[in-house]
Amino acid sequence: MRVGIVGAGMSGLACAEALMRRGHAVALLDKSRGAGGRMSVRRLATAQGEASFDHGAQYFTLRDPGFIARAENWIASGYLAPWPAAGADAYVGTPSMNAPLRQMAEGLPVQWRARVIQLSRQGLGWCLHLETDGQIEVDAVALALPAEQAAELTLAIAPAMAARAGSTRTLPCWTVMAAFADRLSTPLDCWRGEGSDPIGWAARNGSKPGRTGPETWVLQASPDWSRSNLEAPEDVIISTLLAAFWDRLGQAPITPIAQTAHRWRYARSGTEGSGAIWDAEHRLGLCGDWLIGPRVEAAWVSGTALAAQIMTSL
Ligand SMILES: Cc1cc2nc3c(=O)[nH]c(=O)nc-3n(C[C@H](O)[C@H](O)[C@H](O)COP(=O)(O)OP(=O)(O)OC[C@H]3O[C@@H](n4cnc5c(N)ncnc54)[C@H](O)[C@@H]3O)c2cc1C
Repeated sequence: MRVGIVGAGMSGLACAEALMRRGHAVALLDKSRGAGGRMSVRRLATAQGEASFDHGAQYFTLRDPGFIARAENWIASGYLAPWPAAGADAYVGTPSMNAPLRQMAEGLPVQWRARVIQLSRQGLGWCLHLETDGQIEVDAVALALPAEQAAELTLAIAPAMAARAGSTRTLPCWTVMAAFADRLSTPLDCWRGEGSDPIGWAARNGSKPGRTGPETWVLQASPDWSRSNLEAPEDVIISTLLAAFWDRLGQAPITPIAQTAHRWRYARSGTEGSGAIWDAEHRLGLCGDWLIGPRVEAAWVSGTALAAQIMTSL
């Protein structure tokens, strides 16, 4: 049985690992250039060397017993470490947030730069149509995507599934990344914004374990502010969030040596509540954080749950 998995973020990779462990073949397809999804890292060249930023997920927790067991391997291999600044149970990938995903992807047949634009029936199975004109035939399909993207791909072929995905909303997040020539004097390494503060979360990226390079900060706008300013130009976003940052620090602005912004249209998922969705008759399933909640750990649990449902039914 060959299962086509669309999306190689945490949920898709977890689903693939569980299926392959039990002897199933998988074909993993992801539109990006490499491992990360919403746990991506962004690198910027600066006069002081390369600056790197975890510009999606900032840290994650280990609570589910299965996820704890999986994470023990990452910790032993040096891909994961605690980051006490964010809390006693906060862990981060080392040397960057996507490190656990890169380790998972190494052992799996992932095809990068492969955007799936359509699914069609092929006998009892499916044909995955790629943007690049290619096609891949598989016996079953798992869509490991943000809810909105899963809804789009299933609308024509499984409207009931599309409706379940469409019943949740993923909140956007504008993220500013800035590198500085010197360490900022604030003793804080991270904090959450409050009330009408446009910044929902700020973190000194370099305070995470295993980071090198110049002083780096990640500023994530609050969901409300991101939604209100979703289509604003990038330079306006950068200047507004940096101004709020200096205001919060109570210090005069310092010009970054490098800066950029990223607009996450789909950042913080909703909570559909099913864990995973599997239609055994049509051999089509959905997994991802949105089926449990907006967390890395939820994505892993959902992907693993979908694999279990697929194996039970096949
Ligand atoms: C700004 C931000 C901050 C966050 N902070 C935290 C945090 O602090 N702690 C925490 O636990 N979680 C956090 N999260 C949430 C966490 O990142 C997600 O819950 C988790 O990474 C979701 O994994 P996933 O596999 O479900 O989805 P994704 O990581 O989104 O993976 C989906 C994959 O599908 C691919 N894809 C999409 N469409 C297609 C297509 N048509 N064809 C092929 N491939 C496709 C994408 O390239 C992507 O790799 C944050 C997320 C963001 C964006």
